[in-house]
Amino acid sequence: MARNSHEPEFIQAVHEVAETVIPYIAENDIYKGKSILERMVEPERLISFRVAWVDDNGAVHVNRGYRVQMNSAIGPYKGGLRFHPTVNASVLKFLAFEQVFKNSLTTLPMGGGKGGSDFDPKGKSDDEVMRFCHAFMSELSRHIGPNTDVPAGDIGVGSREIGFLFGMYKKIRNEFTGVLTGKGLSWGGSKIRPEATGYGTVYFAQSMLETRNETVSGKTVVISGSGNVAQYAAEKVIQMGGRVVTLSDSSGYIYDKDGLDDEKLAFVMDLKNNRRGRISEYIEKYPSAEFFEGKTPWEVKCDIALPCATQNELDGKNAETLLKNGCICVAEGANMPSTPEAIHEFHKAKILFAPGKASNAGGVATSGLEMSQNSLRISWTREEVDERLQKIMSDIHDSCIKYGKEEDGYCNYVKGANIAGFVKVADAMLAQGVI
Ligand code: NDP
Repeated sequence: MARNSHEPEFIQAVHEVAETVIPYIAENDIYKGKSILERMVEPERLISFRVAWVDDNGAVHVNRGYRVQMNSAIGPYKGGLRFHPTVNASVLKFLAFEQVFKNSLTTLPMGGGKGGSDFDPKGKSDDEVMRFCHAFMSELSRHIGPNTDVPAGDIGVGSREIGFLFGMYKKIRNEFTGVLTGKGLSWGGSKIRPEATGYGTVYFAQSMLETRNETVSGKTVVISGSGNVAQYAAEKVIQMGGRVVTLSDSSGYIYDKDGLDDEKLAFVMDLKNNRRGRISEYIEKYPSAEFFEGKTPWEVKCDIALPCATQNELDGKNAETLLKNGCICVAEGANMPSTPEAIHEFHKAKILFAPGKASNAGGVATSGLEMSQNSLRISWTREEVDERLQKIMSDIHDSCIKYGKEEDGYCNYVKGANIAGFVKVADAMLAQGVI
């Protein structure tokens, strides 16, 4: 890893996988001596490019754009685009690496990739976001395509950005194809795609709870974030009879002891998706709730925690507090939100813990379903897509149990997800030779 020593997030993600996969390779002769893991940690291609754009006052700005094409052994590169000031090569390589395993787990034919820019959409006008997206796609369009690389959304890239990106791709290439997922319903998008990551995370939590004869119903649930994943995780918990008491953003968290209901959630969706406001505005509308500035919600007593904001948002100390307060289940909606110290605490306490590459795979799985619908030029109903999503999440859960169950019966979902994801990609790489 010496050549990556300046990339802490990437090293963290690789370490987590290596810890469980290296012993598995040692026990299985077909993978020995082939440098499989060494090949997997090196991106097939990493593209970095200048994105120059003009703001509403006529000033020129320059951002850096990226696409990490990590592994295409089992299908075209697939993974989201993130627009956030913290984006750099290390963050995108960690996300792309995780994506390879996650996509493999979905059982769909998708390789792994990730991309984005250090552009910050916060505080920008719609026109500025459009000009940035167009400039970004004017370069990215050379490197992607429906059979090569199919990007999607991630932090800072929602339906508005996907629309602008798709428009410019179509103009440059003069073709209408499924080159991006997360599209609007009237131009090739799939039903349930916006909901899929959040819904899938809760389906996965439910499967884990069922192994202990428990359910989401009646449980108190703490959620971080208030973006796409958090919103739909909250919606599904409410539908299943759980009580969501927190949401957050980078300025702090709100605590609503009465729990969110459909009306309160609709307010949050409008606040975040249309008015692009701050979560603190929730208490102006619902004064019985409280806002805790600069804090994360892990100090709130709960049965289930769903970290749905960003990487490393839940550390060892937060994990200790959650456990002390009786938390029995943590399912990651975000990518790598728990630090290694936090995961260690959860495993030590033998609570149910799902890593994002398993529990948040519903989003990319539904993107895979969007690709299938685009290829066939058909559109499945909401019920059809939701049914497929539930089946995929249940299959991922079974794969984790298959490879993650330990001698005392405890399921280490991290180990299960890493090995199950590894096997399919490694087998394809072996079959294709050293390339
Ligand atoms: P959004 O941009 O819709 O929302 C992100 C949320 O996280 C916002 O509430 C944001 O607050 C908060 N957040 C972002 N960065 C930070 C930070 N540094 N500190 C504290 N809070 C932060 O993104 P998504 O909901 O799409 O993504 C959330 C997570 O889920 C990411 O880890 C993403 O990689 C992962 N994921 C998303 C998928 C999807 O389908 N969208 C699929 C699989 C994983 P603020 O507005 O203040 O920045």
